[in-house]
Amino acid sequence: MDLKGFEGLVKTEVTARRHLLKACQKNGHKICPRCEGRKRYVLDTKGRFRCAECRYTFGPFTGRWLGRLRLSARQWLWVVKLFELEVSARKMAQQLAVSYPTALRAVTTLRRSLVAATPGGRQLLRGEVEADEAYFGGKRKGKRGRGAAGKVPVFGILERGGRVKVEAVGNVTAQTLLASTVKVVRRGSVVYTDRYQVYDALMFCGYRHLRVDHDRRFTRGKVHINGLEGFWAYAKERLIKHHGVSKERFPLYLKEMECPLQSPPPGSLSPGGATAHPIGVKTFIIPKTY
Ligand SMILES: [Zn+2]
Repeated sequence: MDLKGFEGLVKTEVTARRHLLKACQKNGHKICPRCEGRKRYVLDTKGRFRCAECRYTFGPFTGRWLGRLRLSARQWLWVVKLFELEVSARKMAQQLAVSYPTALRAVTTLRRSLVAATPGGRQLLRGEVEADEAYFGGKRKGKRGRGAAGKVPVFGILERGGRVKVEAVGNVTAQTLLASTVKVVRRGSVVYTDRYQVYDALMFCGYRHLRVDHDRRFTRGKVHINGLEGFWAYAKERLIKHHGVSKERFPLYLKEMECPLQSPPPGSLSPGGATAHPIGVKTFIIPKTY
C-alpha cells in the first residue's frame, strides 16, 4: 500500500470498510464464506446474512482473519500499515489508542494469516538446497554456536532460487535434522551443508550431499551455504527489532519469515529486504480461517 492510496482508504470508517468488504468478495461477488454460494438473504439490519444454499448465517467478515478481533475497519488498515513499517505492538497500541494485549493479538492474527496465505507452503523443496542450523535467543554472553546454553536451535533449509523453510528443533542430533530434511526436501535433491557430522547420513536418505569447507577462505563454486547464512543474518536482525520474543510466539515469528513476501530474495548474500514488509491488505484479508 503506497501512502497516498492508504490515506484515501483510512479517511473515514466508511471508505475503510468499503475497501475491506471489497477484498472479501470473489470475482466481484459477495459469497458465503462456507460454501462460496452467491445467493443469500438479508437477516437483519446489523449486516447478517443467511446463505440460500447451505443455510449458514454470516456477517460481512465471518470466517476471515479480521473477523476474529473487534477492531474498526480503519484500525485494521492501520494495523496492516504499521506492521508493514515494522512498528512494535507496544507503539502500535499507543498510536491506535487500544490496549497492548489488543494490539498484540491483532499483530499475531496478521502473522497467522500471512503464514496461512504463503503459497506453495506444502510443496517439497527441490533442486539445490542449503541446510544449516542456527541458534536464537538466550543470553548474549557465553558460549556461541552448537551447545550454547539457553539458546533455541533452529534448522533451516533454503532452496536456491526458491523458498526457505525454518523450524525450531529440540536438539540438533542427526535423527532430528534428517527427519526435518526428509519432511521438506524431495529425494534426489542436492543438499549443501557445512562439515557438521550429523549431516553425513544424508547420502543414505536419497540425497546428494556436498559439504562446505569453512576453513577455506573462498567457497568452491556452487559448494557454499551463503544463501542460508544471509537468511540467518536477516532473521536475527528482524528478531532483535522485536526486543525479545516469548518462547510461545517464537515459532510463529519464525514461520512468518518463511513467507516469500517478507523474506529477502533467496540466495541473496546481503539481506537488504529487512526494512519493510511489502504486504498488501489483500494478503491478509482474503485467506479464510477455515
Ligand atoms: Zn453457504
